[in-house]
Amino acid sequence: MPELPEVEVVRRGLSDRIAGNTITEVSAGDVSLRRPIPLHAMRHYTIGATIEQVRRRAKYLLIDLDNGAVLIIHLGMTGKLGLFAGTTAPLRHDHISWIFADGRHLRFNDSRRFGAIYLLHGENVAQQERDFFSAAGVEPFSDQFDGRYLRKRAKNRIVPVKNFIMDGRIVSGVGNIYANESLFLAGIRPTRPAGSISLVRWQRLADAIRVVLAEAISQGGSTISNFLGVDGDGGYFQLAFCVYGKAGHPCPHCTRPIKRIVLAGRATYYCTRCQR
Ligand SMILES: [Zn+2]
Repeated sequence: MPELPEVEVVRRGLSDRIAGNTITEVSAGDVSLRRPIPLHAMRHYTIGATIEQVRRRAKYLLIDLDNGAVLIIHLGMTGKLGLFAGTTAPLRHDHISWIFADGRHLRFNDSRRFGAIYLLHGENVAQQERDFFSAAGVEPFSDQFDGRYLRKRAKNRIVPVKNFIMDGRIVSGVGNIYANESLFLAGIRPTRPAGSISLVRWQRLADAIRVVLAEAISQGGSTISNFLGVDGDGGYFQLAFCVYGKAGHPCPHCTRPIKRIVLAGRATYYCTRCQR
C-alpha cells in the first residue's frame, strides 16, 4: 500500500509536469473504484480547466484547478498515476484518463480498485476540504507536530506507542514500516504504553518520524508497495531499514538479534537492548 512517502514522491513528480496544463477531455470506463467515479461532475468541472498545482494531505493527492475545483485522489492499495504520450495504448486497469491540451494523458490505474477519486466544486471548496479532512491527524512535517503535541494527545493512554503513532487521527501517514524504523531511531520500545513516555522522548520520536519519512521521500519511496512513480521508474529504491523485516539480524547499534512480535496484527521489530 502506498504510504505517505510514496504519495509525496508522486506529488513532487506530478506537480511540475502537469501544472499549467489544460484538461481537454476525460475518458473513463464504467467500473467503480472504492466508490463510483463522479464522472458527470468530473467532465463538467475538469474539461477546460487548467491545473494550478498538486498538493498532498495525509495520503491524498489534491489537484487544484483554476476554476476553484479540487480533484482528490487516493491510491488505495494498488493505485498508480502515470503520465503518458497520447499514443501509448491504455493498460488493463486504467480506469480514468485526463487528456491534456499538449496531448499527454494522466492515467489512473488500479487493479484491486481500493483507490478513490473525489471532486470538490461549487461554493466553499475550502470549507469542503476542511470537512473532508476533519478526522485527519496533523501532518508530520507541520509545526504542530512535536513532542508536546504527542504527549498531550497520549495523556493517560495505555495503547502501545507504536499503535498510537500509526493512528491517522493523531498524525497522518506513519505506516507500519516507518513506525518501526522511527521507534528504533528514537530508542523507544514499540509496546510501551503511550501515556508513559516523557516529553524528551516524545520530541525524539517526532524528530525520528520526520527523519525517517524525509529519507524515504528522498529515496523515492520504499519498494515494498506495488507503486509506480509518474515516470514509471520511481519507487523501486530499497530503503536501508534498520529493524523492519530484520528479525534475527544483528541490531545495527549493539548487534543483539532484532526481535519480531505482532502488535495489533502488524509485524513489529525492535532491539530489546536499545529500545526501552
Ligand atoms: Zn540494539
